[in-house]
Amino acid sequence: MKKRIILHIDMDYFFAQIEERENPQFKGKPIVVGADPRGGKGRGVVSTANYEARSFGIKSATPISRAFRLCPQAVFLPVNMDFYEKVSLSVFKIVSKKAKKVEKVSLDEAYLDLSDKCRSYKEAEKVGEEIKKEIYKKERLTCTVGIGENKMMAKIACELAKPDGLKVIKPSQTKKIIEEMPLETIPGIGPKTKEAIQKYLKKKNAKIKDARKIKKEKLIDLFGKRGDDFYHKLRGVDNSLVEGERKAKSVGKEHTFQKDTRDPEKIIKVFRRLVGDVYRQAKEEKIKGLVVVCRFEDFETHTKQASFEPGNYKEDFLYKKGVSLLLRFLTRSNKKIRLIGFRVSLPE
Ligand SMILES: [Mg+2]
Repeated sequence: MKKRIILHIDMDYFFAQIEERENPQFKGKPIVVGADPRGGKGRGVVSTANYEARSFGIKSATPISRAFRLCPQAVFLPVNMDFYEKVSLSVFKIVSKKAKKVEKVSLDEAYLDLSDKCRSYKEAEKVGEEIKKEIYKKERLTCTVGIGENKMMAKIACELAKPDGLKVIKPSQTKKIIEEMPLETIPGIGPKTKEAIQKYLKKKNAKIKDARKIKKEKLIDLFGKRGDDFYHKLRGVDNSLVEGERKAKSVGKEHTFQKDTRDPEKIIKVFRRLVGDVYRQAKEEKIKGLVVVCRFEDFETHTKQASFEPGNYKEDFLYKKGVSLLLRFLTRSNKKIRLIGFRVSLPE
């Protein structure tokens, strides 16, 4: 593979930072954006916490009732998504000017492929500085930038530099830098995989360098296809591309309910319409899969997907497949639903 320079940008504690900016009176206080804590009895989770709140052990996805117990004096704020989306648009306007290929990961995170634009890491670092400066000038918000030879290393550099930082990991440093890091630094290695690796190594708190001792065949034996991927990632190799045109590979639509609801009839009726709209847009295309999105009242967002052989499928087929996924959201949680979405993926 051709040598690449990849930049990862991540806004610092995005939602909470926006709230700090909008409410200077809260500056310096722990701020938790997320579900309503209702005196510790609320349901739902923390969406974002600022660093003051994090020092109490509160993080994204912490149950809101637990966050309240950890720090009752924190400022608890509801998620003002429409506003954060506007800020995100303005941030992305700046970011997308810096590279031809920009992959938006979420409202506040993106990868840029700078390989064509920059001949050296020095040049890429300058681009990173510009991005930080321009975002701050326009939005008065800080972000962190990481630069590396691939997406994984750019992301790791970014994690190491948070908050308000900029870090470059050159290819010559890659192997050494990740050697001492915990296994879960590798994307795809979660608690379960980590445990399996440690069990195999008979070693607690195994680090990346320990797992490098496992032969490729053994990793494949243990984890199938993922094992092959881990083998490379443990050595700092990640060939995944920055997918700039990712959006064009799918057609989709979302609907936000006026009022959060759990009424299945209402939800399914809207869903039927979404499927119809998407079907008409994608009719001429071969379809290879579908995704159902569900955002609950506390903004926790989940997706379920199905994939099939690329082909021209009928609307009814897509609806039946989709609705069976949708029903799982309805039966598995008793939270109200704020938004549902449907999209189909098209072959590249
Ligand atoms: Mg962020």
